[in-house]
Amino acid sequence: MTVMLIVFIGPPGSGKGTQAKRLVSHLQIPHLSTGELLRSAKSQDTPLGRSAAGYMDRGQLVPDPLVLELVAECLGRPEFAKGCLLDGFPRTLEQAKSLDQTLAQRGTPLALAVELRADENELVTRMLKRAAAEKRVDDNPQTIAERMEVYKRQTAPLVEYYQNRGILVPIDALGTPDEVFERIRAVVDARR
Ligand code: ADP
Repeated sequence: MTVMLIVFIGPPGSGKGTQAKRLVSHLQIPHLSTGELLRSAKSQDTPLGRSAAGYMDRGQLVPDPLVLELVAECLGRPEFAKGCLLDGFPRTLEQAKSLDQTLAQRGTPLALAVELRADENELVTRMLKRAAAEKRVDDNPQTIAERMEVYKRQTAPLVEYYQNRGILVPIDALGTPDEVFERIRAVVDARR
């Protein structure tokens, strides 16, 4: 069986987490969500969680060394050997380059970079609704604006990076979760 390593990129509010869950269940590969791992470290008050908490609550990125160590530890586990979905990582060019180095050493390059795309105003509206429903600490108007800025400044450059490598798959993120997933599934299945 081929190793299927997929990177999932999308601005805050794009439904990235929801779609990532569906895709891992469809492909039967592990899900590596740095956002979830960091939130769990934070709620368990581990040393990593304590270092990351302030950045997360402000909507800023956790410094690369902390995140890189977390991801390296996960990718080293045997259950990730047959592939995985990287959700929320990489988020900076620095992280993308470091991931490429790790994968080159293992001889397992990235198969695809799926990018969820949507109009910014639409995404902000969605997040404000989610804030009311889920009460995530980083879903308040100020932090939402900060996370959107951080995305545009630090993560959006990855789109071009993966486009140049010929593995970028842009997906329209507007529509129902079923409609969006169907778009993703069609492209991913065609490349398997
Ligand atoms: P979002 O829904 O905003 O995309 P995530 O759940 O992916 O959020 O991440 C939540 C927070 O965790 C981010 O705002 C950031 O502080 C931190 N984080 C997650 N992944 C990374 C990463 N790859 N590098 C740095 N910080 C990260």
